[in-house]
Amino acid sequence: MGIRCLCIAPHPVLRKKALPVKEFSEATRKLSKDLIDTMYANDGIGLAAPQIGLDVQMFVANPSQKRGQELVWINPVLEPIKGRARIVEGCLSLPDIWERVWRSSHIRIRGFDASGRNVAMEVEGLLAIVLQHEWDHLQGRLFIDRLPWFRRPWVRTRRQMTHACA
Ligand code: ZN
Repeated sequence: MGIRCLCIAPHPVLRKKALPVKEFSEATRKLSKDLIDTMYANDGIGLAAPQIGLDVQMFVANPSQKRGQELVWINPVLEPIKGRARIVEGCLSLPDIWERVWRSSHIRIRGFDASGRNVAMEVEGLLAIVLQHEWDHLQGRLFIDRLPWFRRPWVRTRRQMTHACA
């Protein structure tokens, strides 16, 4: 088990554009396992590497929360296909903030899995929303950025814990 500390906004790593993974190794697989363990330890359905302080292009997702069905995406490229959908979103890096956010309802994603194999799929429903949320993390974006400015919660910059350990 490798449960890592979470970075909480306004931690600066959450605002960096993540760098591509250049080499697939045992360390890549170990990091994907740590992300999965940390996601479950915090009751999440997705978690991106910047949320544990690493600016690399990797995230995990599992909206079903069934063990063994986790998806690992490395160096992903995501494109909207069609439609709009809006659900209430939260984020482990933004505790206690829940807001409805507009996103694409159908997307296409391609990238690599933890072993470096090419993966591509077309996705809709909750998984499409989760993948867009996590992909945003790799661009340095948080879901509150997608809210109209007057609904954007103010994230305190002082006297706030920026790390939390499960
Ligand atoms: Zn998030």
